[in-house]
Amino acid sequence: MAGGEAAAPEDAQAAADAGAAEGEAGGGGSGYDNKCVFCRIGRREEPGTALLPCQHEDLVCFRDIRPGAPHHYLVVPVEHVGNCKTLKREHIPLVKKMMEVGKTILQRNNFTDLNDIRMGFHWPPFCSISHLHLHVLAPASQLGFLSRLIYRINSYWFITAEQLIERLQTENAAS
Ligand SMILES: [Zn+2]
Ligand SMILES: [Zn+2]
Repeated sequence: MAGGEAAAPEDAQAAADAGAAEGEAGGGGSGYDNKCVFCRIGRREEPGTALLPCQHEDLVCFRDIRPGAPHHYLVVPVEHVGNCKTLKREHIPLVKKMMEVGKTILQRNNFTDLNDIRMGFHWPPFCSISHLHLHVLAPASQLGFLSRLIYRINSYWFITAEQLIERLQTENAAS
């Protein structure tokens, strides 16, 4: 009898925690598209995708399914944010936070030469997924032939995180 009762409070606590977490996630209402794979990953609805430790709760980090370098991670906002072309000046802190997570995940995986990394976004229409995601690749000096093309600096189809921030700063200053 005592044993059964002892287990109950724990279960109740777990249920309460789950309820609280769900309430938080659902509370926003907007910002979730169940057809969007990155939204589902952000909500832990894709068990096949292992989430890596991430210091910000509103971001998730995981390995790219088609790695273009020995280290290739994606950093994604939990909330559905459109591709990099739709971003505005107010998104600069978000982009910076995504870069910070990218650097941290590299360091956690014992990659410390932050001069030899590439971080950026695919510029529309060269995006397969419209949910904003930062590609983090390292070492940049070891990208394969195809990756060098796909993640090419100063191309029409790829913009580095630094360039995006610059663009957001100047574009909005003018208008
Ligand atoms: Zn999404
Ligand atoms: Zn991409």
